[in-house]
Amino acid sequence: MTTFTNLTGAAEIGANSYLIEDGDIRIVLDAGMHPKREGKEALPCYHLLEGREPQTIIVSHAHIDHIGTLPVLQQEYPQAKVMMTHGTAAVGKAILHNSVNVMSAKRLQDGVEEYPLYTHGELEHVTGNWEERLYGEIFEIGKERGMLGTFYDAGHILGSSGVMLETRKGLRIFYTGDVQFEHQSLISGAVFPEKDVDVLIMECTHGATERDAGYRRERELGRMAQAIRRTLEEGGAVLIPVFALGKSQELLYELGRFKERGLIPDAPIHFGGLGAKITQVYDQLADTSPRKAPGVRVRENVETVPLPKDAASVMVPDPGNIYLVSSGMMSAHTLSNRLAAYVLPHKRNSILFVGYSDPDSPASRIKNARPGELVRLGDKPERGQAYPVNCRVEGFDFSGHATKEALLHYAGRLKPRKVILVHGDERALEEMRILLEQRLHGAQIIQPQPGVAYELE
Ligand SMILES: [Zn+2]
Ligand SMILES: [Zn+2]
Repeated sequence: MTTFTNLTGAAEIGANSYLIEDGDIRIVLDAGMHPKREGKEALPCYHLLEGREPQTIIVSHAHIDHIGTLPVLQQEYPQAKVMMTHGTAAVGKAILHNSVNVMSAKRLQDGVEEYPLYTHGELEHVTGNWEERLYGEIFEIGKERGMLGTFYDAGHILGSSGVMLETRKGLRIFYTGDVQFEHQSLISGAVFPEKDVDVLIMECTHGATERDAGYRRERELGRMAQAIRRTLEEGGAVLIPVFALGKSQELLYELGRFKERGLIPDAPIHFGGLGAKITQVYDQLADTSPRKAPGVRVRENVETVPLPKDAASVMVPDPGNIYLVSSGMMSAHTLSNRLAAYVLPHKRNSILFVGYSDPDSPASRIKNARPGELVRLGDKPERGQAYPVNCRVEGFDFSGHATKEALLHYAGRLKPRKVILVHGDERALEEMRILLEQRLHGAQIIQPQPGVAYELE
């Protein structure tokens, strides 16, 4: 019997992790950390693995909600093989070492006793056991050809992959991971299998989001260049809160291109920290990983001003400067959060949002505020000092996730017998289930409850 068990604690984009069992073979897909919870609460339901020891752990990509607790799982199951692409391994090391620092800071600032969940030294040890596989390379899982696995390019960030698993009986299970079918600026769109999939495990980030029918990425970039130029010409500062992995590299590349084409003035771009480290990895792999612009190295085309080394040091934004800084959701204690205190009160400044933000985050509070409304920047709406939203606030869509239509289209072409919906909030999963039931007659569409084993055959 082959089964799927959701180890993510709830129907949400949280600590993503899934268990596939096929007889005595057990594979864990992804080992994420919950972006909003702290301490042990941030782990997937690993207690469900007691007595069901996984032999293999496969990581789809290096975002923290997919890789953040891999060292914890590896320490629990040191015999398990760990598989990922080279890009995921290279970026994953930077992400996890940074995570040790973030956890240590949270222990000091917020008194999270369990942090850090692992140390730099322990991390060094477990990363030594990671095994890398190429896209398209078929690898064996378990003893005596237990199962076969293959990575497919997921087009989401550097190294991102979808994972094909084939059981001894020939059942083919495909997990999309996080996927983008369209080209981004640096990363080219997903190259996924187009047939012979029995079970599709699909991400649903945009399952309840409608994109404007007239959307064009180029137009969105043009609009962004205009917003930056106007602010700089009026003597304001531009704050662009970004995720360190993915959006930082895409946007830094585009800022360089804006300057090259004279679309924005040659203003200083402040950029650094984890985002800069990951950009280095992107550039190192420019020739050997799939690219929209093959061989292009971001740092060769754009100069930046490094950020202060000490994350807690005071930084006051200068007029006529651009700040491309994390975090994307402007979480408390991050640089984008601290800069917002200076940027928000002044009409001449701009905050440009370029990605998803959780409804409870400071970023969403600012997005949803009326002009002049007071907004607090703490980790809860009632926490932290209040600032008036007097600056310009604009949003742009450069998503690294497939649209709802693209997901439906893909599932429709693939015609799997079963679809398991993951990586979306309750509303997104529900909407996708209803739409897929209409589109895939006779197929079983599953919204997996945490901890329940669903039969896949
Ligand atoms: Zn991701
Ligand atoms: Zn994700």
